[in-house]
Amino acid sequence: MDNVTQIAGLAAPDVRGLRARMTGELVVPGDEGWDAARQAWNLTADQRPVAVAVVADAADVVEVIDFARDAGLRVAPQGTGHAAPAMGPLGDTILLKTHRLRGVTVDPERRVARAEAGAIWIDVVEAAAEHGLAALAGSSPDVGVVGYTLGGGLSWLARKHGIGANQVVAIELVTADGEAKRVDRENDPDLFWALRGGGGSFAVVTAIEFNLFPYEHVYAGILWWPVERAAEILRAWRTWTSMVPDEMTSVGRILQFPPLEFFPEAIRGKSFVVIEAIYSGSPVDGDLWVSPLRDLEPVMDTVQTIPVSELSRLHMDPEEPAAGVGDGTMLSDFRDDAIDALVAASVGAPLLSTEVRHLGGAVARPRAEHGALSHFDDEYLMFTVGMAPTPELAAVVEGAVGRVLAALEPWRAEQTYSNFAESSRPGGSFHSETAYHRLKRIKAAVDPGNVIRANHEL
Ligand SMILES: Cc1cc2nc3c(=O)[nH]c(=O)nc-3n(C[C@H](O)[C@H](O)[C@H](O)COP(=O)(O)OP(=O)(O)OC[C@H]3O[C@@H](n4cnc5c(N)ncnc54)[C@H](O)[C@@H]3O)c2cc1C
Repeated sequence: MDNVTQIAGLAAPDVRGLRARMTGELVVPGDEGWDAARQAWNLTADQRPVAVAVVADAADVVEVIDFARDAGLRVAPQGTGHAAPAMGPLGDTILLKTHRLRGVTVDPERRVARAEAGAIWIDVVEAAAEHGLAALAGSSPDVGVVGYTLGGGLSWLARKHGIGANQVVAIELVTADGEAKRVDRENDPDLFWALRGGGGSFAVVTAIEFNLFPYEHVYAGILWWPVERAAEILRAWRTWTSMVPDEMTSVGRILQFPPLEFFPEAIRGKSFVVIEAIYSGSPVDGDLWVSPLRDLEPVMDTVQTIPVSELSRLHMDPEEPAAGVGDGTMLSDFRDDAIDALVAASVGAPLLSTEVRHLGGAVARPRAEHGALSHFDDEYLMFTVGMAPTPELAAVVEGAVGRVLAALEPWRAEQTYSNFAESSRPGGSFHSETAYHRLKRIKAAVDPGNVIRANHEL
């Protein structure tokens, strides 16, 4: 075929036909807007798919999947592109972007939210707060609800209510053979099980329904110390985490702010060790639990009663697309020598944040009704990240991230958490062996042609 009969390597009549059938847009290389269309939230990801389909509704998703399957292409759904760095080359793939589908509705009677595929957490958090309800939202206001939940979902209420995926009540989707349907415990229970923590390999989700919880306020904030006290504070935090109730979820974290204008003056160019503490019980009890940390005399202390919706900004995650290189691992233990190794590898390195999240509580309790990611046995989860605005800096930060991971190798748990893995990992890294084999069987049954493609492939 010559250039007249092809558009970006695809048969021109086929591309024109798909465009005509879609309400949304189909953008191909050479189109004005191509670079904007292929851009992910994480600006380090240089995505070069065959085409980008910006879908406007579930009917568009059916059209794109049917087209891709018939053309021998794959389809990679993407909400925001927060997790784009783990995705490999896209030369045989249509990137299916869902960001136009931002609708959220809340049913206060059932305490259930329905979020369309492109909704981000702040959309849900604010809609739920109007009814005195809270979702199991992540630390960032603009992470996608669907990507987060399919991977698992660790929120600030995790130790009380477990992994977000296990609060899902129904999922609307389009399968690899182009069928739009709604799955739940009674309808397609295997597929429903796989989607709850098994990742994005099974179908394109168009909407998701999940439980909300009656919280209006929490007792939460950050305690700050100079980074020179990192080992001492992290040891004290680790000891404290072995005593706290499920209502307390917390993070021990090293923050190293470059001297850049957009950081507030109080922290610009400075480094800290901090503890982020979120207590979902009464403020009086929260105050009692936090007091041993206050005895360590933090230089700043913002822990107080706050509206639950403010949890979306507690972790200070960037709210606009950003260039970052990061990676994480689950830790089998966070004992003194692991803390020393973490501090030695992180402090002074070109890393903005190195955090350890405390799991356990409800996160560690499996239940028969849970999905593919039932629980985590390991108590601590580490993630480290640095700013990478240029390819040169990205390489430097990648080296620093690698050194933190290498330093923690003796305590690296066998299973890790896909949402905190920003590099490609071998299949089976994220689930128990039994769950992984079941996921593989379900994938073979629902998508034998391997059309649907996730950032982490099974
Ligand atoms: C700043 C920041 C803060 C974070 N905080 C937390 C946190 O507190 N807790 C936590 O658990 N995780 C957290 N994460 C990790 C985050 O949950 C994952 O990166 C997640 O995959 C992002 O989902 P997304 O839809 O925004 O990203 P995307 O890159 O758009 O999607 C990630 C993957 O999800 C799948 N997917 C997305 N949409 C669909 C769909 N419609 N149908 C089928 N599959 C789909 C695809 O496989 C896709 O590759 C954080 C990440 C960042 C960068």
